[in-house]
Amino acid sequence: MDPKLLEILVCPICKGPLVHRREARELVCRADRLAFPVRDDIPVMLEEEARKLPPEEEA
Ligand SMILES: [Zn+2]
Repeated sequence: MDPKLLEILVCPICKGPLVHRREARELVCRADRLAFPVRDDIPVMLEEEARKLPPEEEA
């Protein structure tokens, strides 16, 4: 994914920073405990598409 694109991306819900999990192809918001999918290098910044992190998963 384009590092410049990553820099400008924020969480659509809390506008906070995101953590890129390259291996999982996800962008994680630690505050909301949501993981947004990255499909074909395109981040899908939709709450409906995001995966909720289970409590046992490190955010
Ligand atoms: Zn957030």
